Amino acid sequence: MSDQFDVIVIGAGPAGYHAAIRAAQLGLKTACVDNFIGKDGKLALGGTCLNVGCIPSKALLDSSKQFHLLTHSFKDHGISATNPAIDVATMVGRKDKIVKQFTGGVALLFKGNKVTTYGGYATLQPNHVVSVKGFDNKVIELTAPNIVLAAGSTSIELPFAKFDNKLIVDNAGALDLDAVPKRLGVIGAGVIGLELGSVWRRLGAEVTILEALPDFLGTADKDIAKVAAREFAKQGLDIKLGAKVSKAEIKDKTVELTYTDAKGEQKTVVDKLLVAVGRRAATSGLLAEGTGVQLDERGRIVVDEHCHTGAEGIWAVGDCVRGPMLAHKGFEEGIAVAELIAGKPGHINYDTIPWVIYTEPEIAWVGKTEAELKAAGIPYKTGSFPFAAVGRAVAMNETAGQVKVIAHAQTDRILGVHMVGPGVSELISEAVVAMEFHGSAEDLARIVHAHPTLSEAVHEAALSVDKRSIHKIN
Ligand code: FAD
Repeated sequence: MSDQFDVIVIGAGPAGYHAAIRAAQLGLKTACVDNFIGKDGKLALGGTCLNVGCIPSKALLDSSKQFHLLTHSFKDHGISATNPAIDVATMVGRKDKIVKQFTGGVALLFKGNKVTTYGGYATLQPNHVVSVKGFDNKVIELTAPNIVLAAGSTSIELPFAKFDNKLIVDNAGALDLDAVPKRLGVIGAGVIGLELGSVWRRLGAEVTILEALPDFLGTADKDIAKVAAREFAKQGLDIKLGAKVSKAEIKDKTVELTYTDAKGEQKTVVDKLLVAVGRRAATSGLLAEGTGVQLDERGRIVVDEHCHTGAEGIWAVGDCVRGPMLAHKGFEEGIAVAELIAGKPGHINYDTIPWVIYTEPEIAWVGKTEAELKAAGIPYKTGSFPFAAVGRAVAMNETAGQVKVIAHAQTDRILGVHMVGPGVSELISEAVVAMEFHGSAEDLARIVHAHPTLSEAVHEAALSVDKRSIHKIN
């Protein structure tokens, strides 16, 4: 006999747990299956994001930022400390406590919303059956007319640099180092490489990031990427572009990397290596024969704009489908699918998904870059404003960066907003709201912004689109 539900969700990461909670809120009898084992050896809900992604990385970014401020900036405020030191075990322990608080929080939310939780590995079988192999290896079957696949993603491993979780680590390993490495190598200058590279750099590691592509942060607006590259170089992050790594050999408890750049073959030796070359959909083993669900050439589940797979009652959301691998994109897909299952008009606006990189300075954007607009032949105008001219940023001693607003040349509609600087992970929300309401640069320019706040940079950049910024010469 199989357990019967209205909805079964496979995966309790951001996409899956949002789908499950929203389905239960809408009165559907819901089950969620997950197989992530936490550090305490027990089922830990919340997926990559809560266990080894967004939240633990932000915990370490914050700890390392405090240390960096203490060792580099506090003196400007007249604050001194003798022999500042970092206790890595305490820092990592704090991170683990935060993870436990949030994974436990999802378990409580499931209980409170009457979502039935199953621990184990789920496989979608034909005819709306999900088989679950529990941690005791016993297999049970669940059925439901609607099944949501939210299996997420896993780190891509390079064939010549296999993870041993001692010297060569993935994101999970880089969040759990037991000491600051003298030399940390990072393959990949994407979001994960930059964030985790920053953590260990701020604590004193010599960090070398090797990136195969010739451009730094190719998906960001060029002006923003330029400022970020300059600031990271000042912090001592050694980012080598156009550097293709071909070998990672373990020698005397170090890793010797061989890479090729414009000057030919090079070698460098590091004490730890983080491989952060991207993530792939976790779909291997998820689908039995005959489910009717298709995978694309990158192993992602094929879905339409409503996250439906084309197989009746089978949906897929989050990192295991097309689109940016971002937790909040998964949140909204999960909610939209639960609403569609309940007969409501679930919807996601993929054009206004914000991107954030939590380095120092932070980087955030929404909408199109100048390069994208140029390529599409869309006429545009831009306005920008530096944080160096914002009173609050100067008072905070965090003046690097700028806000740039791009608007349509004729209609003034906001097409993209790009930021690098202090607190831009929060400031970007204003731009998202403005774009969601089809706002113009003039709308932003006419909104009253509190003084003195960092948000004045957004206001002034919007004014600057029409060359009427007050605090700079236009
Ligand atoms: P996941 O979070 O990967 O969850 C999938 C869950 O399903 C997992 O628990 C997995 O064990 C389980 N599962 C998979 N297959 C099965 C199966 N067959 N049976 C049972 N269970 C299964 N995004 C942001 O938006 N902001 C950030 O700041 C950010 N920082 C990040 C930092 C790092 C270091 C990393 C690695 C990622 C970061 N991300 C960030 C990305 C974010 O974590 C992912 O986009 C998000 O977790 C994807 O959610 P998901 O629900 O699709 O999948």
